[in-house]
Amino acid sequence: MKKVAIIGGGAAGLMAALTAVKSGADVTLYEHNKSVGKKILASGNGRCNIINTTAFVTDYFGADPSFAAFALESMPFKVFEKFALSLGLLLDVKEDGRCYPLSNEAKSVVMAFEEALTQTPVKIITHKHVKAITTENEHFCVHTDDGFETYYKVLIATGSQAAPQLGATADGYSFAQHFGHTVATPYPSLVQLHLESEFHEKMAGVKVMAEVTLYLNGKPEEKVLGDTLFTRYGISGLSILDLSQRASEALTNYQAVSVGVNLLPSFNRQTLASQLEKLFQAVPTHDLEHALSGMLSTKIVPQLLKSAKLDTKTKVQTLNTKQIKKLAHQLQDWRFEVTETHGFKHAEVSGGGVSTAEVNEKSMESKLLKGLYFAGEVLDIVGKRGGYNFNFAWASGMIAGKGLSH
Ligand SMILES: Cc1cc2nc3c(=O)[nH]c(=O)nc-3n(C[C@H](O)[C@H](O)[C@H](O)COP(=O)(O)OP(=O)(O)OC[C@H]3O[C@@H](n4cnc5c(N)ncnc54)[C@H](O)[C@@H]3O)c2cc1C
Repeated sequence: MKKVAIIGGGAAGLMAALTAVKSGADVTLYEHNKSVGKKILASGNGRCNIINTTAFVTDYFGADPSFAAFALESMPFKVFEKFALSLGLLLDVKEDGRCYPLSNEAKSVVMAFEEALTQTPVKIITHKHVKAITTENEHFCVHTDDGFETYYKVLIATGSQAAPQLGATADGYSFAQHFGHTVATPYPSLVQLHLESEFHEKMAGVKVMAEVTLYLNGKPEEKVLGDTLFTRYGISGLSILDLSQRASEALTNYQAVSVGVNLLPSFNRQTLASQLEKLFQAVPTHDLEHALSGMLSTKIVPQLLKSAKLDTKTKVQTLNTKQIKKLAHQLQDWRFEVTETHGFKHAEVSGGGVSTAEVNEKSMESKLLKGLYFAGEVLDIVGKRGGYNFNFAWASGMIAGKGLSH
């Protein structure tokens, strides 16, 4: 039996280890955390959105998202469901295709993998940082503080640098670059955004169901309806996480990025001004601040009025049509300039990574060096929120695991 090494005990590495050992490989898995699957434990707010039943290439980003097609087709949901059952893991499928362990606990997922691996001869070496990977006489040397071990094949499944507090590193990129691979500049994704404005900080803590439009160089790109939270540094919430992939990538490319917040998405844009007029006719002697406080958070109202250059104390009966139209516009397209993301520490995933043009999507083997494999987030493939990132990690890990054992 030929010895193979897997670097990284995350979703991709664990899946690859089980697959490779079942196909007869002598597997050693290196993980520098004290235990495997730390990101799995933290995922989905501790519930682990383990997969999405309907993952397509269009749910992914990267220089060439079609790279993910083979992996996704090789491991459709039914295959993963059977695999999960073989670990004793039952799944709870939600209406929108998101899928969680039936226990609703991410811990069940890690425990299931650990138990399955314990029943195999896979050597799991935890608390061991891999410093470098080199080659010698057609073998790979995996270097740690204890020296090095040689292997016939190596899988780099070190993930991305998102969430370094969970053990994430950029090591996989350096290992890949050492062997001549190209790495697309990594950027944080599924992450909160920083705003340049005098208003957001004063509204920190206010959550609204808003429709947020992402503007790149002033052009609308994408619109998402969802919980939106103003924070000390900028803006957060599910709507923002969903837009963050494109926003972050655009910031990396020095584009002008802004978001337009529609605070009243259920109101028709054309008729909002006349609806405001009706409201103001009902309470003509109210000042603007009081008149709007029945429909918006009291933390938002003064900031919104200031941004629209309207005085909070203005009696609504004195407003002219132009001012009401301006207010209606501000309520539905309040623009904020995005300066940066909240960074890798707060990101769920990272865009960029090892160029997929240099990896064979049917085996996950490097096209530059035989015996070198990649799987999971270390590659230049990143998914939307909703289980898609685990989806690619499991699927690519399974393919790489098969490749390791050949
Ligand atoms: C807070 C949070 C919540 C998330 N929730 C979800 C979710 O619900 N659904 C979803 O689909 N995705 C989610 N994700 C994303 C998902 O966790 C990742 O896409 C997925 O874990 C990637 O798997 P991977 O195996 O490629 O990398 P990882 O899971 O990151 O595994 C890589 C492993 O390599 C180890 N490692 C790195 N460098 C070295 C080294 N030099 N030596 C030894 N070991 C090393 C790391 O410690 C890590 O354990 C979430 C991410 C975060 C941070």
